[in-house]
Amino acid sequence: MANPLIYHKQGWIEVICGCMFSGKTEELIRRVRTALIAKQKVQLFNSKIDTRYGIDSITSHNQNKVAATCVKKSDEILALVDKDTQVVAIDEINFFDKGIVAVCEQLAQAGKRVIAAGLDTDYRAEPFEVTAALLAKAEFVTKNLAVCTKCGNPASFTQRISKDKKRIVVGTTDAYQARCRRCYKKPRQ
Ligand code: ADP
Ligand code: MG
Ligand code: ZN
Repeated sequence: MANPLIYHKQGWIEVICGCMFSGKTEELIRRVRTALIAKQKVQLFNSKIDTRYGIDSITSHNQNKVAATCVKKSDEILALVDKDTQVVAIDEINFFDKGIVAVCEQLAQAGKRVIAAGLDTDYRAEPFEVTAALLAKAEFVTKNLAVCTKCGNPASFTQRISKDKKRIVVGTTDAYQARCRRCYKKPRQ
């Protein structure tokens, strides 16, 4: 039987969350590629804060890459999405202002499939409010795990290995490791 969500051309929100290196971006890119194979019109967005791999793409840690528009504020996305776009993919939602939640809801309400990926928790293992809210509002939720860099168990924590104390510090393996619950050490404030 046909999926009723698709049959009625209804929009919805999918969230892909997890710690760093858990394959969120890879999974986002995989979903985008299958939508493109189905000849759907897809638009991709990333945050301007994510400067790790240039400013015009969504790139995973293993260098899988797709072109994307980088925006500073959530409401820029609404202005940029075309009427006939069927799929809107947004990476690093945790970098966006809290307006991103309403933006995703508005797009879904307008009949679009919204795929949003981002960190569920920060380096202190506290929830990113934006991701937490979006997880509560989404129809479909996926939590990815990485491999613990210390012991190989499933990892859901992001250990910062640099001494920075700011909540947002952009980095890859130079600054972060995936850790399991046993190997993660919460940094002192
Ligand atoms: P995320 O967007 O969740 O940070 P990516 O999709 O960019 O993750 O990258 C996932 C890739 O990172 C994996 O396929 C693997 O090649 C690489 N990687 C590096 N360190 C780890 C780790 N500790 N656990 C799992 N994958 C890792
Ligand atoms: Mg990523
Ligand atoms: Zn471990």
